[in-house]
Amino acid sequence: VRKIGVLTSGGDAPGMNAAIRSVVRAGLYYGFRVYGIRKGYEGLINGDVEELNARSVGDILHKGGTILQTARSPRFTTEEGQKKAVSMANVFDLDAVVVIGGDGSHRGARDLSRHGVNVIGIPGTIDNDIGSTDYTIGFDTALNTVQDALDKIRDTAYSHERCSILEVMGRHAGYIALNVGISGGAEAVILPEIAGSLDIDKDVIKPIIEARNRGKKHYIVIVAEGAEGKAIEIERAVTEKTGLEARATILGHIQRGGSPTVHDRVTASVMGVKAVEVLMNGGKNRVIAIKNGKLVDIDIDEALEMKKSLDEEMIKICKILSL
Ligand code: ADP
Repeated sequence: VRKIGVLTSGGDAPGMNAAIRSVVRAGLYYGFRVYGIRKGYEGLINGDVEELNARSVGDILHKGGTILQTARSPRFTTEEGQKKAVSMANVFDLDAVVVIGGDGSHRGARDLSRHGVNVIGIPGTIDNDIGSTDYTIGFDTALNTVQDALDKIRDTAYSHERCSILEVMGRHAGYIALNVGISGGAEAVILPEIAGSLDIDKDVIKPIIEARNRGKKHYIVIVAEGAEGKAIEIERAVTEKTGLEARATILGHIQRGGSPTVHDRVTASVMGVKAVEVLMNGGKNRVIAIKNGKLVDIDIDEALEMKKSLDEEMIKICKILSL
């Protein structure tokens, strides 16, 4: 019987459990034995591995986080660490390892593949910042969490005629910031992608003053954590230059937690089955992705060369609607 390992790695994301469950159950359905590897590559190096059955993954579909836990593993980025990981995959006789995680985890999977371990990547990160796929598991849940927080902040901002500055996750990519900018009706959105060209007077102060002159009673500025200008600096600038009361809120890890939305559960479930079917059909070193609305699998080396960027049209829409 062929054996598959499954691990979650890097930053956790809601829906990872749904993906684990899907890999395990699809694996069993197609006659594989499935092994859970705890704490990402760290657990693979340490041999922290346990066989899973259909019941091991019962009652987790709706839970945030990852039952296998996750880790960042500096050891795994070294040649020595990777060799240990490979030898452990051999100890457990794993024919393939399914890696659920973000861009870094996919790069780690590619390194494993270069050492002869067959890997399948499943994109899981709240940031939606993997070039090979239009969508990553966890993004929709994170958006809804941020939107929920923003709605609450908006209630109190309106009552006090305040300017709220909300810092959201996204060190290199502004997908969360831009989407919530649109769904939450922000006056200004500050993205990591425009690093080096932020002009606080023009990009933040001016839209707020214009909004005030049009009779608005509250103002929302969304800042991605990796953008130039921290929420606190913008809070200070708005207070000094407009005389409005400004308050920065840094959402932090709240954005990673919570029960996954239907969209994330379904995407994770579909991707998990696809990963196993790719293995069934003899696929080697592939990543699962959604491209133009279609579920596909792509060679891992090619996938890691792919880039995507924020949709300029979405940036324009956000500006138009802040009037
Ligand atoms: P994410 O998968 O969420 O992007 P990280 O970037 O922290 O999270 O990556 C998770 C783990 O994957 C790292 O701790 C490391 O062990 C491994 N990894 C990340 N980048 C690389 C790389 N370029 N080469 C090999 N392994 C990597």
